[in-house]
Amino acid sequence: MSAIDTLPPLRQVIADHGLSARKSLGQNFLLDLNLTAKIARQAGDLTGCDVLEIGSGPGGLTRGLLAEGARKVLAIEKDTRCIPALEEIAAAYPGRLEIINGDALEVDPLAHLTSPVRVAANLPYNVGTELLVRWLTPSDWPPFWQSLTLMFQREVAERIVAQPGSKAYGRLAILSQWRADAKIVLSLPPEAFTPPPKVSSAVVHLEALPAPRYPANPATLSRVVAAAFNQRRKMLRAALKGTVPDIEDRLTAAGIKPTERAEQISLEAFCALAREIDKA
Ligand code: SAM
Repeated sequence: MSAIDTLPPLRQVIADHGLSARKSLGQNFLLDLNLTAKIARQAGDLTGCDVLEIGSGPGGLTRGLLAEGARKVLAIEKDTRCIPALEEIAAAYPGRLEIINGDALEVDPLAHLTSPVRVAANLPYNVGTELLVRWLTPSDWPPFWQSLTLMFQREVAERIVAQPGSKAYGRLAILSQWRADAKIVLSLPPEAFTPPPKVSSAVVHLEALPAPRYPANPATLSRVVAAAFNQRRKMLRAALKGTVPDIEDRLTAAGIKPTERAEQISLEAFCALAREIDKA
């Protein structure tokens, strides 16, 4: 195994700083620096980019991102115990690592970043999904980020890239694919982490599109998709009853059979429906 930098191995970093993994913080660490460098490479060409990394922990992915040439990494980590370990990395890469000790759901990173920005993270599942939804639904598009490279539990990764007709297809797929290209770029077994989680994981890479794939008002699309998938086993005419008075006519005008179910409707057709609803 070749070293990616001159810093100590991650097992030693963890021992030196007493970083016993805490379940409450979703701490499943990646200790193989070849693997973290591989994940960093999935984030695209980092040279000339600022990288926002959420949940840096002992810094395995942070080191990968810096070794892969990121102009600057902004690391947001909630666990105060990890900060001295991250400061050692900052000292080895002068001027290229800024650390914020805080909760990523509360910190606004924008003042600390210069465009172009890429985002990379290995985060607890619930925090990751909440941040993904926030990053996909800004008030203006294109967003502050050029790409997102995020670790998820495999099942969530599959929901992000799902296509119509599959069980995994739903609100997360529509949200992700409407304004971004999304793909699974790496699969990881539980043993890749210390301690190993119960489930397999996957890295998803999303590249922001310059404009939405199909025109639609974001609020209308979001409302329709939420209502449609809330009752995914019902026919759309029933699931969407109450959203607008003449929903059957709107569905037909959008080229959708009112007897179809949400799972069968393409992203393009959902956007057409959102436009028809706004016309009404
Ligand atoms: N990136 C490291 C790695 O790959 O080894 C750590 C990954 S571990 C799955 C998740 C990290 O996110 C932990 O270090 C944890 O303390 C941190 N974390 C959890 N919730 C957070 C939050 N709300 N904001 C920032 N960091 C958080």
